[in-house]
Amino acid sequence: MVVFDIGIYGYDKGMNSMKFADLHLHTIFSDGTYTPEQLVSESIKAGLSAIAVADHDTVGGITPATEAAKGRGIEVLPAIELSAEYAGREVHILGYLIDQSNGVLLEKLSFLKQNRVQRIYKIIAKLENMGISLKPEAVFELARSGTVGRLHVARALVKEGLAADFSEVFQKYIGDRCPAYELGFKFTPRQAIDLIKQARGIPVLAHPYTVNDDGMLEEIVGCGIMGLEIYYPEHSQSLQNFYLDFAKRHNLLATGGSDCHGEAKSEIKIGSIKVPYPLIEKLKAAR
Ligand code: AMP
Ligand code: ZN
Ligand code: FE
Ligand code: FE
Repeated sequence: MVVFDIGIYGYDKGMNSMKFADLHLHTIFSDGTYTPEQLVSESIKAGLSAIAVADHDTVGGITPATEAAKGRGIEVLPAIELSAEYAGREVHILGYLIDQSNGVLLEKLSFLKQNRVQRIYKIIAKLENMGISLKPEAVFELARSGTVGRLHVARALVKEGLAADFSEVFQKYIGDRCPAYELGFKFTPRQAIDLIKQARGIPVLAHPYTVNDDGMLEEIVGCGIMGLEIYYPEHSQSLQNFYLDFAKRHNLLATGGSDCHGEAKSEIKIGSIKVPYPLIEKLKAAR
């Protein structure tokens, strides 16, 4: 989907309106399958002028992607995706244009990375209780040195022939509220937002459809959210319109992206959501 309907934000209709960006991409530094170099090459093929590397709990993919992009007519924006919990629901918060050398941020990320490893052992113990015997190495081999998560567990289960596909894995075992679900460390929305802000980043609520209660949306936004990921593969046109209106009323920035994880979710392609470059100029101006 290409997003043209940006009239309410009053963008200029100059050259930058012809440039497009995908602002939500994962690499092997978290649970994507593209290296940063592959991500850049694929993004160029997709005709993008800018991308944001937004891995879960790590900034590791940003510098290699930036290096790979040099002189190739594509801009890499630093970003991150943090997990928070609100009223028993998982809420993801994107941080755009963060200072990736921020000490407080790096210290927290190092803690989160270790915590994710411990969490895998807990998930595996819960799977064992369900009669599913998965070796931790099968998961860690897939994650290599990246931040390890549920998508790696899903891939390992399918690879080892212990589940048919991801939908079975997430519906029966490790989806939110399933028997082998394990929370892991979760910020409150305010903590995640504050961490991003103190690293000079812009906190944006990721895929807001996952917050399916309007009152809750108001509350999370009230914690200091500066933007909404309005353009997202799971958002229908009417949901998108609702978020556009919500963003306008709350003076929020608009972002969008595909949330491509490479071959780990092969149906979601880089650039399947493209937003016009002036949205990035708004992000930069808000910093
Ligand atoms: P984690 O951060 O380890 O809790 O994993 C969250 C990631 O798991 C998401 O970013 C998705 O990549 C993946 N995920 C969560 N729920 C599902 C689902 N129902 N189907 C496919 N992937 C999912
Ligand atoms: Zn993911
Ligand atoms: Fe997410
Ligand atoms: Fe994501």
